[in-house]
Amino acid sequence: MTFHAKFSGYADPALHAAGLYIGGKWQSGSGITVLDPSTGNLLAEVADAAIEDAQRAVDAADAAAAGWRATPARQRSEILRRWYQLMTQHAEELATLIALENGKALADARGEVAYAAEFFRWYAEEATRIPGEFRHTPSGSHNILVDHEPIGIAVLITPWNFPAAMATRKIGPALAAGCTVILKPASETPLTAYAMARLGEEAGVPPGVVNVLTTSNPGGITNAMLADPRVRKLSFTGSTGVGRVLLAEAAKSVVSCSMELGGNAPFIVFDDADLEVALDGAMIAKMRNAGEACTAANRFYVQAGIHDAFVAGLTARMKSLKIGPGYDPETQCGPMITQNAVRKIDRLVSEALAAGARATTGGKPLTENGYFYPPTVLENVPVNASIAREEIFGPVAPVYKFESDDEAIRLANNTEYGLAAYIYSRDLKRAMKVGKRIETGMLGINRGLMSDPAAPFGGVKQSGLGREGGVTGILEFMEPKYFAVDY
Ligand code: NAP
Repeated sequence: MTFHAKFSGYADPALHAAGLYIGGKWQSGSGITVLDPSTGNLLAEVADAAIEDAQRAVDAADAAAAGWRATPARQRSEILRRWYQLMTQHAEELATLIALENGKALADARGEVAYAAEFFRWYAEEATRIPGEFRHTPSGSHNILVDHEPIGIAVLITPWNFPAAMATRKIGPALAAGCTVILKPASETPLTAYAMARLGEEAGVPPGVVNVLTTSNPGGITNAMLADPRVRKLSFTGSTGVGRVLLAEAAKSVVSCSMELGGNAPFIVFDDADLEVALDGAMIAKMRNAGEACTAANRFYVQAGIHDAFVAGLTARMKSLKIGPGYDPETQCGPMITQNAVRKIDRLVSEALAAGARATTGGKPLTENGYFYPPTVLENVPVNASIAREEIFGPVAPVYKFESDDEAIRLANNTEYGLAAYIYSRDLKRAMKVGKRIETGMLGINRGLMSDPAAPFGGVKQSGLGREGGVTGILEFMEPKYFAVDY
């Protein structure tokens, strides 16, 4: 791996890992360029794994599997706990790395590191509480004993928007369950994944238990791994489009899949909401990671009586945000991940404006270097505009006016996604009644942030399959085994 000179000023050299990590060995290489999204300049170049490297990673995960599975839960737990502590000790360097390669503001990057490390602490605890069952059959003929066994080698594929947290949310439960893994991080943000693997090594993760590959051929590499009968799990976080392709590929070898896919979260504000609380929540739900979050509020449905005050308040807050490189401590809204991301946002906003929407702030890309789009509020957006159907993944808040509860529910559910939703009302009974009718895996009531390692994260409809985190997250990496026992 080679680093641009600018990079070394920001991050701890101890975290500069060197390329592919297979079987506890580092293999340097080149071929994948990592850019600073605030300038478009080269930050680093990392190794580009070929199919043979992926096969070696599966061999390494296989060689380590029996030993890791037999390692007592308490010992697995202590390794995860050390990894959590090391991430916490190195929080500032990890946050800087994330801010550099992803572009998000340092405050968001620090928040991500704390959230990411927490998955290791949570699963260090859960590793020692793997459940089983003992039951009596209704007929009285025998007893039912249910054990949970590690599912086998797991391939973990993660996106660029949370380079640390999406990895720990998978590695934590997989290792706690007794599985060995191969992590393929996103090509835009591999440095955080390699830095964390370095810390895992220091925490005592045995060689081969965690392997990390970067590649310019994600489809070829993943298909080769899924075709290997030793691989029994695919845990993917990313877009719904790629998720569909991977589900079809995994079907060929009937590999168990957990899918954390795209979202199109509605943010519903009722007339009886506390305006300031709703605006605070809106800023978190929209602007964490500058809108590049799967749970980001994508459609603001605001009841007629509070609509104008909400638009005015949101516009003032969005306008006041300081735009700049993520690693500048003053920045509140960093760049988008790529120029393509800016183009997509521009297309959605331009189409909405052409269809009659009005921008109360922002509304077109910034022209300076880097991939910047300004915080934008749109009002009078037609409910069938493409911006209401597609993930914006940027700092744009389209606001739609509604009259009745039934109308809000109908609009909120008018999407193939169902990951996250938000409701603001002082009337908890009303919020719960509406919430029960919203098709979503997660619902924030008077809260703009719902992610928590102790809670089940995931979506319904085309937002995914399975849940990460919480007490059930570990079961995604286990198979129940039923013993019919007569004694
Ligand atoms: P993406 O394009 O689907 O990529 C995600 C990962 O899949 C990357 O590592 C990518 O590798 C890899 N990939 C791409 N094509 C592949 C293929 N044919 N086979 C195997 N792997 C492949 O998504 P993204 O743009 O990185 O992330 C944004 C999306 O993720 C959004 O839709 C967002 O909502 C979703 N997301 C969901 C959650 C959740 O928990 N539900 C959380 C975060 C993000 P390369 O980088 O090398 O292309």
